[in-house]
This record gives sequence, structure tokens and C-alpha cells, in this order.
Amino acid sequence: MSRETGNLFLKKELTREDIVTLLRSDDDNRNMLFKEASEVKKRYLGNTIYLRGLIEYSNLCGKNCLYCGVRKDNKKINRYTLSDDEVFDAAIAAREMGFGSITLQAGELDGQAHTDKIESLINTIRKLTDNALGITLSMGEQSSETYKRWFEAGANLYLLRIEASGKNLYEKVHPVDGHNSYYLRHECLKIIQNTGYQTGVGIIVGLPHQTLYDLADDIIFMRDFDIDICGISPFIEHTDTPIWKGGSDTYFLDERFNLTLKMIALMRIIMKDINIVSATAVRSINTTGLEKAIIAGANIIMPNLTPIRYREGYKLYEPKPDAKEIDRNNVSGLNLELLPGETIGLGKRGDTTHFQRRKNKL
Ligand code: SAH
Ligand code: SF4
Repeated sequence: MSRETGNLFLKKELTREDIVTLLRSDDDNRNMLFKEASEVKKRYLGNTIYLRGLIEYSNLCGKNCLYCGVRKDNKKINRYTLSDDEVFDAAIAAREMGFGSITLQAGELDGQAHTDKIESLINTIRKLTDNALGITLSMGEQSSETYKRWFEAGANLYLLRIEASGKNLYEKVHPVDGHNSYYLRHECLKIIQNTGYQTGVGIIVGLPHQTLYDLADDIIFMRDFDIDICGISPFIEHTDTPIWKGGSDTYFLDERFNLTLKMIALMRIIMKDINIVSATAVRSINTTGLEKAIIAGANIIMPNLTPIRYREGYKLYEPKPDAKEIDRNNVSGLNLELLPGETIGLGKRGDTTHFQRRKNKL
């Protein structure tokens, strides 16, 4: 690839073809891409990494996404739901350790009792932590009423990945069983955004049958949707899923990892001031994966606050990094020697300027 092609990212607006070319880039060109992404991050957001403590609230799930180990039909895992006190203890610990926000994540559940429960957890967390923590939810597709109630209770950010923005691929990795609809996923994202949440959208890189054009379309989708937060993880097989049983027609793990980093860098260059999560899945492939994702343009990490005894039950993919308590002397768990100049934003939510700009436009 020529140097000019390597510099393609400097173009004002990248086309689908440009994005595919950049996703194909290797070695020198890839490093130039990461360098540019890093400079954009510094220019727009500074050098701070924000922490969002992850609380894996429940692995009960009504869905059967073909790639996920927590899917309803996986009978090999013990199902759990944290007690209220376990959630509160994790939230209090997050505050004590200087986290700016927490994320409550779970399989997809619905019903009045679930809506009421999450609403009451949000209310109590806010009281117990003097309203100091940002509260993110990642609880799948819900009704507009439920999204609204949780927002009014005090959740300020919702993560719902599009997973794959093209209908064809989406339907290849989600069963057509009445619980999944491509259109409903898009509708939910729109409702989340209109309800007033900072809206987190993301995708999985390396799904079977996915092409570089699909990935380029994902970037264009997220840009046009005007997302606030982006979460991109490599696909990692779980042995108790149909995708595994069907054999994986996908990239090698290394390639998925590299593509994930390039996708992060491109999202940073294209959307500049959004938050980008360095997802834990990158550490499953590469021990310094989180740090590499930060160098490629990510600025958020999600250290795991779930009590250790439940971690075995929350394996979306295998293997997950070893379950460890957070080290209070290094709460980010990052090797900061690999990240010269970066600091950890203790006590700060790290809300995006992008979100503020988007709100001002409304
Ligand atoms: N049930 C909620 C939240 C938990 S799943 C939801 O689906 O939104 C959170 C994310 O885990 C999903 O959005 C999906 O992108 C990711 N995930 C699931 N299985 C995965 C796998 N095998 N490899 C990589 N990411 C996976
Ligand atoms: Fe359930 Fe989420 Fe896994 Fe789908 S990705 S099976 S909704 S936990």
C-alpha cells in the first residue's frame, strides 16, 4: 500500500471503499492509523482514561443470540441474580475506589417485576453513593416505558450494541424465533437516544460470514446514528453455542484482534469526541489488549466488580480473563508503563463532549 493510501484517514469524509482499504492496511500503515487516532483523542479529549465499574447483575436471559454463552438454551451454566445488597456493596466499592460510574449489565429480561427492581436499585444506588456515580445500563431491548422509567430514576447512559448493522448478517447470528427482530433493535436504539440517554452502540468484529464491507457499513451506521459511546469487541467463540457447533467461518483470532483495533482507531478518527470502550474481550486474545486498544483510540475501561463467585456463570465468551478482585493500588488494572502520558480519571464520570454537543443541537 502506498504512503498516500496509508494517509487516507486524513480525508475529510471517508467513503465505504476508503474504510475497507484502511481496514486492510498492515504494519506501517496500521501504525500510522493508530498514531492519528491517538492524536485525535489527545486533541479532543485529552489523555484521561475513565473507569466504568461493571456489575454483571444477572445471567438470566430470554434470548438465544447464536454467539453468546449466556443464551437461554445453554443449560450448562448456573443461573444467578445478585442480591440487592451485593449490587449496593459493589456500587459503594466503586465509589470508594474512585470510579466515576458503574454499569449494571444482565441478560435480557422483561416484565413489570424486572422493571420495578432495576428502578429501585437505581434509586437506592444513588442514595447510597450521594448521587456521585454515573449509572449505565446494559439490559437489552426494553419497552419505551421501561427505558423512560429507568432514565427518570437516574440512569444516564444505555449500552445496546447493534452487533451487526446489516440485516443479512444480523439475521445470521440471531435466531428468527420471535425474540429477535432487526427492526426492533433499531427502534430500541432510537427510543434510547430520544429518551435522553447517552447512547452506547457497538458491534462484534469477526462474526462468521462478516466481511470488511460489513464492518465499513457498521462504522457508517454508528456515525450517521450519531452515537455517544462505542463498544467494539472481537468475536470469541463459546463452546456451548450454535456458532461453535456449526463451526466458525471467521477470521483467525489475531486477525479479529487487529481488526478490532483498526475499527477503534477509525471510529476515533471519524467521530473524534465520543467515548470508546476498550472492551475486556480484547484481553482474552492478547494480554496487553486493553492497553493496545487505548493506544488505538479507546478512552474507557470497565473493570469488573461482580463478586468473584458469580463470574463463572457470566461467560458471554470463552475464555474470559481470570476472575480477580480489583487491586485497590491499581484500580484500572492497566499497565500504565505501556501508556506514557495517560492518566486515570478517578472520581470523574468522563461524560462526552459529544453528548453535550448533540443535546445542544436538539
Ligand atoms: N444482554 C445484554 C447485555 C449483555 S451481553 C445485551 O445483549 O445487550 C453484552 C454484549 O456481549 C453483547 O452486546 C455482545 O456484543 C457481547 N457478546 C456476547 N457474546 C459474545 C461473544 N461470543 N464474543 C464477543 N462478544 C460477545
Ligand atoms: Fe442474552 Fe445479551 Fe447474550 Fe443475547 S448477547 S444471549 S441478549 S446476554
